[in-house]
Amino acid sequence: MAPRRVAGPADLHLHSACSDGTEAPSQVMVAAHEAGMRTVALTDHDTTIGWDEASDAAASLGMTLLPGAEVSAKHRGRSVHVLAYLFDPAAPALAEMMQRVREDRIGRAEHLVGNLARDYDIAWEDVLAQRTGDATVGRPHIADALIAKGIVLSREEAFADMLHPASPYYVAHYAPSPLDAVRAIAAAGGVSVIAHPAGRGMLPLPVLEELIAAGLGGLEIGHRENDAAGVRTLRDVAAAHDLIVIGSSDYHGVGKPNRIGENTTDIAMVERIVAAATGGEPVRP
Ligand code: AMP
Ligand code: ZN
Ligand code: FE
Ligand code: FE
Repeated sequence: MAPRRVAGPADLHLHSACSDGTEAPSQVMVAAHEAGMRTVALTDHDTTIGWDEASDAAASLGMTLLPGAEVSAKHRGRSVHVLAYLFDPAAPALAEMMQRVREDRIGRAEHLVGNLARDYDIAWEDVLAQRTGDATVGRPHIADALIAKGIVLSREEAFADMLHPASPYYVAHYAPSPLDAVRAIAAAGGVSVIAHPAGRGMLPLPVLEELIAAGLGGLEIGHRENDAAGVRTLRDVAAAHDLIVIGSSDYHGVGKPNRIGENTTDIAMVERIVAAATGGEPVRP
């Protein structure tokens, strides 16, 4: 039997309030549908808790959903985000990796807020008030608490100063190496794609080559944060290694200006992801 085809347009990088987006997974699906998407992926940071709600909503709206996640990795202090699609959420190495990151993010955020509390009227409870349920905690929740307290006007303003890695208040969280993340995603039957590889500086090419040798699936080339020179290099690398290439919005609800569908992924590439994955199937309408 021939595989069932997937419809476009496709946006494969969306965040909900299960991490640092501002809308529930079902609301994100409604927003994607209103933006004209026919295929989407929910890629919350280091968690799969939004999958069930997103799956039900996407199917009832007539959209295809690729369950996914954005795994927080780090190479020599540089944050490297690895998108993962259609992996088995019960596969132990990846599940444990994401759980460790989630747990460490809580202590890290608490520490960061403690540092801010030296100079600002902000407490850990203010941040918890911005978090929905067991959502993966991130700096955006601290930014939202700072907004609620009237200390800054936007997430943007908080990230430019107090939450910036160069800020005296900053604290890093544990993150696996991108190599370990790519291997864990592969072991879970998923397809790995480096998110915004040329955002805030190009991921060093030797690192990229090492990831490709370890089974990296693709590159997110269409992303507003990738710079033009980086995009040219990434296109060359993708062509040389026949990698999957995606484009996406990295939607965070009202938490970022990114609009659903501002970059999209060719359907042939979505079909390559589906064909390469052994850990799960897309949720079809
Ligand atoms: P964290 O995961 O806690 O290190 O925070 C990183 C998250 O903050 C990423 O998911 C980004 O989407 C978000 N972020 C980074 N810079 C900004 C910004 N200037 N405005 C809003 N959100 C941002
Ligand atoms: Zn985010
Ligand atoms: Fe990211
Ligand atoms: Fe993202």
